[in-house]
Amino acid sequence: MKYALLSDIHSNLEAFQAVAEDLAQEKVDDVFFLGDIVGYGADPGRCIELLQELTTHIIAGNHDWAAVGLTETGSFNPVAKTAIEWTAGKITSRQQTFLAQLPLIKNYPHSTVVHATPHHPEAWDYLLSLKEASQSFKYSDQHLCFIGHSHTPITFVKDQEGKISVLPDTAFTLKDGHRYIINVGSVGQPRDGNPHAAYGIYHADDARFTLKRIPYTIERAQEKIIEARLPPFLASRLAEGQ
Ligand code: ZN
Repeated sequence: MKYALLSDIHSNLEAFQAVAEDLAQEKVDDVFFLGDIVGYGADPGRCIELLQELTTHIIAGNHDWAAVGLTETGSFNPVAKTAIEWTAGKITSRQQTFLAQLPLIKNYPHSTVVHATPHHPEAWDYLLSLKEASQSFKYSDQHLCFIGHSHTPITFVKDQEGKISVLPDTAFTLKDGHRYIINVGSVGQPRDGNPHAAYGIYHADDARFTLKRIPYTIERAQEKIIEARLPPFLASRLAEGQ
């Protein structure tokens, strides 16, 4: 079985469509979405529709919950807050109900999917350091955990002796007895200096993970953000991958 792991679309329809075309070419068996369908970009409603066509395996991100008042926007920066208020006025009541019922975390037989951290998902902390990874590894004995939220691809691995390290590779085979936390990056607003949309593919049969980068028409997504009178920074950052 071949699974796709997508996160942080953030209402960027152009990036999401490019990834959806790639998914069709890859002939994946199923798609898992790790949160933040909306926020920042100009196409919240159409991104929700496209995601609903692709999968039912969808969890909530902080922006999804903020758009329907389930999470405080006190910790949001002013640009993110403006975009969330704009988003809340754009989506239909049916879409609001859909976002409001999304779970924070899901456990499957061999893996966990969560937006922020598996040990405290509702705090929306960023899992960026070995120390934070260690807390997350303690939470469960799952072999594999997929996350998003930081918009920066990174893999933490815990070996049989309990040593935790960062795996520099973007394509690798998972080892027996090792445990993994994999951040698959962001479809709609990458922040690792590479503006191409990011998503992960996991081949369950031979335990192989690959991070893919997909070019898309960034200029169109930027134009829509400007036309919608959203903060211009949300357009410029897409070209920088920041
Ligand atoms: Zn996000």
